[in-house]
Amino acid sequence: MAKYKLEYIWLDGYQPVPNLRGKTRIANDAPKSVKDCPIWGFDGSSTQQAEGHSSDCMLKPVGLYPDAGRGDNAFLVMCEVMMPDCKTPHPSNMRATIEDDPDTWFGFEQEYFMFHDKRPLGWPHDGFPNPQGEYYTGVGYANVGNVAREIVDKHLDLCLEAGINHEGINAEVAKGQWEFQIFAKGSKKCADDMWIARYLLLRLCEKYGVDVEWHCKPFLGDWNGSGMHCNFSTKYMREAGGEEYFKKLMDAFEKNKDEHIAAYGPDNHLRLTGLHETQSIDKFSWGVADRGASIRVPHSFVNDGYKGYLEDRRPNSQGDPYQIAARILRTISEVPIAAEAPAEESVGLAK
Ligand code: ADP
Ligand code: MN
Ligand code: MN
Ligand code: MN
Repeated sequence: MAKYKLEYIWLDGYQPVPNLRGKTRIANDAPKSVKDCPIWGFDGSSTQQAEGHSSDCMLKPVGLYPDAGRGDNAFLVMCEVMMPDCKTPHPSNMRATIEDDPDTWFGFEQEYFMFHDKRPLGWPHDGFPNPQGEYYTGVGYANVGNVAREIVDKHLDLCLEAGINHEGINAEVAKGQWEFQIFAKGSKKCADDMWIARYLLLRLCEKYGVDVEWHCKPFLGDWNGSGMHCNFSTKYMREAGGEEYFKKLMDAFEKNKDEHIAAYGPDNHLRLTGLHETQSIDKFSWGVADRGASIRVPHSFVNDGYKGYLEDRRPNSQGDPYQIAARILRTISEVPIAAEAPAEESVGLAK
């Protein structure tokens, strides 16, 4: 009889950046949906989530993904960490802080470096490679080395087989730096998918002896840092929008500048300097097609009457997509939207 491997995955209690954790549970039947995955537990005293004398934490499954990299009978089960009553979210559970809205769409652009022996892939052991210029979207051994492309391609396949909306890959501006994009409808869903995509990349890199360096500025000086630009749109932004609403939204983002930075990943002052396509950390600005702004407004947004999506360029590569999404949704919720026009019936118009 076939057995099924379920990898339960969760985020631990480390600060300021949680680690991914996972352990395997064998099932006799294939789960058809996440509802078929039972609640499970783990020893929170080993993950900075509990004291030793009362160590149980609970894993509540929230997402189910086929795990093609492990075989036909394998699944990844994304979980939230709960208190022993299974109802109260654990303090480390940032997913529970999101006011979810399935009509909110998110697209994250994850940048990162691949490292071997504490140096980016393709860098000499001492000193530096050629300055930045030819690496971005580059091709050839001199630009991308001999193993990175195989890894990013395999990662793409693993994500697609898991049902994750991986949207694309590019080699980035620094040597050894890469990007992939994940898009989903629903804020929790997109953040779940990003954590699973990170898990798949970390696990894939194990067999190449490669570490994923998520830090937002591994090298000071004239080397790009890593961001995780967050593209977002609500139903209202896509369908109603308008210049007046947009300006109010930007005012709210400006007012909450510090709260956003606090949710956007550690050490961001090293990256948001005003150089390397960033706005400096103590300023807020928006601009049409401006990659030096905090929020970039796509041309299409203005051309469509201030409707569509916006790009917050400040979140960094180590940021937690749950916290980033939660903060953006909170600021959006502070801006009143125009009441919907009454339906024809209710104003008694003749048919
Ligand atoms: P760039 O590098 O020019 O900033 P990318 O193509 O890397 O742009 O990323 C753009 C992101 O915007 C993608 O992840 C895409 O899915 C996302 N996106 C596109 N349309 C929307 C939308 N309506 N709402 C939210 N995100 C969107
Ligand atoms: Mn991009
Ligand atoms: Mn990029
Ligand atoms: Mn971008």
